[in-house]
Amino acid sequence: MNHFELVQGSGGPELACEGVPLAKIAEAVGTPVYVYSSATLERHFTVLRDALTGAGLKDPLIAFAVKANPNVAVLRTLAAVGAGADVVSEGEIRRALAAGVPPDRIVFSGVGKTEAEVAFALETGVAEINLESEPELALVNRVAQQMGKRATVAIRVNPDVEAGGHAKISTGKAENKFGVSFGEAERLYANASNMAGVRPVGVACHIGSQITDLAPMEAAFKKMRGLVERLRAEGLSVERLDLGGGLGAPYFNSATPPAPADYAAMIARTMAGLTDIQFAFEPGRMIAANAGVLVAKVLHVNARPEGRKFLVLDAAMNDLLRPAMYDAFHDIRPVKPREGDPATYDVVGPICETGDTFTRDRALPPLEAGDLIAFMTAGAYGAAMSSEYNSRLLVPEVLVKGDQFAVVRPRPTYDDMLAKEQSAPWL
Ligand SMILES: *Cc1c(COP(=O)(O)O)cnc(C)c1O
Repeated sequence: MNHFELVQGSGGPELACEGVPLAKIAEAVGTPVYVYSSATLERHFTVLRDALTGAGLKDPLIAFAVKANPNVAVLRTLAAVGAGADVVSEGEIRRALAAGVPPDRIVFSGVGKTEAEVAFALETGVAEINLESEPELALVNRVAQQMGKRATVAIRVNPDVEAGGHAKISTGKAENKFGVSFGEAERLYANASNMAGVRPVGVACHIGSQITDLAPMEAAFKKMRGLVERLRAEGLSVERLDLGGGLGAPYFNSATPPAPADYAAMIARTMAGLTDIQFAFEPGRMIAANAGVLVAKVLHVNARPEGRKFLVLDAAMNDLLRPAMYDAFHDIRPVKPREGDPATYDVVGPICETGDTFTRDRALPPLEAGDLIAFMTAGAYGAAMSSEYNSRLLVPEVLVKGDQFAVVRPRPTYDDMLAKEQSAPWL
């Protein structure tokens, strides 16, 4: 569920985020603009945590995948209800720290950590570094010893399951770049336990994103359990099992994602009898997607004589890349719906690329130039993937709480944009 609903405004029904009409935010901040609901963020986190603890998983570490929505105010909102952070770069570690996430709730993942990033993570005292390969194990062992430290690490395994979803966000097949095989994991874990610079505490997996079927997760988790049991049988200590993220969000055109309670029950069932282990999770999309919308304005309704009707927006693929990159579907809702018959539109942005098309042949309520629309379920991998392509200003972000709202990433000025560059001495 989310907190974007139609409310009765002075001029008829209009879409609001919690107690704030989206039109009011658009008027104050301009468009395009991302709007996030604190209540939805908090609710998704607590529903997941309650489902996991309710299923009997004691004190799970729920590390929000920062890459889904790295806005510091969003992270602070989640940290305040107990979220940790799953990070993949020094920049994300710094964001998590700036948001008040305690280092002992930060998990550092990613296939290509640099020496400087590893050193920064060790300096910070992050809870765990998830290692994705043998060279990375060697790197962390070396850097930690140079610093006189012992790094707490987990080995990320690639469980080789087909998770469904888009090929660009599938991560759990052997052909993907992530993690090591089960055999490798056993060997690396045993090696790591004899190294002076690392202390292996567990194993991790993450099989993909926008997963709407529990079966591939269950298959992967069973294999992970088997690995934990084999490691323990070899006399190795395994204290933590990180099951990654990947639960889908409802985008309205696809299968409904599993309920957190069903996800938790599946894990409890799969892990029944496995004792003395802390479970960790790295949800991104399921927490943030439904907690955000992108509000844009209709610039033109361009009805071609041959029949196509283009809805030209002031938002473009640089603001919301998912449709161009993953053929992703976003529900589009008018902020102030008009009466009348729906029409069929191609919804496009102003960028000079055919890829700058949000959707084709979409039936929408009647819209006119100047109307506002909202791309729903845009809180994850939305602003996070935005850019200045076409020298468009970075899209601003607004956080709502109850009947208050705050600009948490202002729209830069054109001077700000130009000030980031400098000339070459010969020019
Ligand atoms: C992207 C990612 C996540 C989050 O995935 P979601 O589908 O947003 O839940 C979690 N863990 C790792 C290692 C990731 O790369």
